[in-house]
Amino acid sequence: MNILLLGSGGREHALAWKMADSPLTERLYCAPGNAGIAQQAQCVSLDLTDHTAIVAFCREHRIDLVVVGPEAPLCAGIVDDLESAGVKAFGPSRAAAQLERSKGFTKDLCRANGIPTAAYERFKHAPAAKAYIRSHGAPIVVKADGLAAGKGVIVAQSEAEAEAAVDMMFGGGLGEAGGEVVIEEFLDGEEASFFALCDGETAIPLATAQDHKRAFDGDKGPNTGGMGAYSPAPNIDAEMSDRIMNDIIAPTMRATKAIGTPYKGVLYAGLMITRHGPKLIEYNARFGDPETQVLMPRLMSDLVPALLASRDGVLKSFDLRWYETPALTVVMAARGYPGHYARGTVIEGLDEAAAVEGVQIFHAGTKAEGGRILANGGRVLNVSATGKTVRKAQARAYAAIARIRWPEGFYRRDIGWRAVERETSA
Ligand code: AMP
Repeated sequence: MNILLLGSGGREHALAWKMADSPLTERLYCAPGNAGIAQQAQCVSLDLTDHTAIVAFCREHRIDLVVVGPEAPLCAGIVDDLESAGVKAFGPSRAAAQLERSKGFTKDLCRANGIPTAAYERFKHAPAAKAYIRSHGAPIVVKADGLAAGKGVIVAQSEAEAEAAVDMMFGGGLGEAGGEVVIEEFLDGEEASFFALCDGETAIPLATAQDHKRAFDGDKGPNTGGMGAYSPAPNIDAEMSDRIMNDIIAPTMRATKAIGTPYKGVLYAGLMITRHGPKLIEYNARFGDPETQVLMPRLMSDLVPALLASRDGVLKSFDLRWYETPALTVVMAARGYPGHYARGTVIEGLDEAAAVEGVQIFHAGTKAEGGRILANGGRVLNVSATGKTVRKAQARAYAAIARIRWPEGFYRRDIGWRAVERETSA
């Protein structure tokens, strides 16, 4: 098969690395890709917002399957446009991607179908939103309805903070995404990410993960796209996994099908595991980043037929195998991220780092120039490792990082601390 992968981050590098390994893959292209992906795929410069150009590329290069990494093209309807042009595409339609595009839509779907989630209300105007905040008190969570690149959720510790968030969102601080807000109950518990592969009818669980969203050690500092992750999530055992499938994923599949927008692709559930069981925080319509960088090293089965089965609607009899061993990834970011940072700094030592046993380096924001690898984004590298325990995977990842020479980069030194603590106390 000729496959075109869309995206340019660490998630796409992990997907490219896994798909390149498939005996089914004849040619692998990635648009736009990065310096690491270029080791597994032919990178092509296509504008992901130009669907006509993408369709034309697929025709010209006889693409058998397009795999969409990021949410923006999914929400813009790239799968619809490819499919109507006769090109097979992995991922949800624009209508199905509403599970990620609109928090209000997802909350209403949960309410109508008894899917456990935080109590909430939707608002279009500030006075009613503020009255709701005052009647419920803090802590309370204020969310922009639309896509806000990780900036749309404020977990407010006081009513004043929540009201300020409402003013910021309705004041246009997040653009169109904040035209409507959801205000919801604060959930107490431990978070986990749950991934399921869906074909519009059937969902099969992939694997679980936990990530670290804050920039600095001790889970402190500003929120980021994710500074590291590990899989499996130690707070999801087989019984909890069944409960999540039965109480959250399966009813979502039934409900989306019933309203005429069957969900295909990866469904990524952000969960809070509370005293009263798992509750849905949010859905994403794609693989997670950096979670994919720990899922792919644990996947024993071939990824390509699984993605194809999702697209073709034949997951029912599908079986995926996973390695039991945990995986962990540490993100290396440019100093200053998630704020202002420099591009173009030189990274050395990647080959020595990749030589550490069990280590796989996935590139995010990098580019190759004159035989050197340069930083070209905020999150730049993912150093992933597998090991018999999370602690061993963690030691390998950090041993590899010690071989990377990039003074302008930084990383957290405590990725996986919660899981390692659990291992130690067990
Ligand atoms: P989201 O973008 O919806 O995943 O929210 C981002 C982060 O905000 C989550 O990963 C949680 O840490 C936190 N969060 C969101 N909703 C809630 C909630 N209802 N209760 C507690 N924390 C929340």
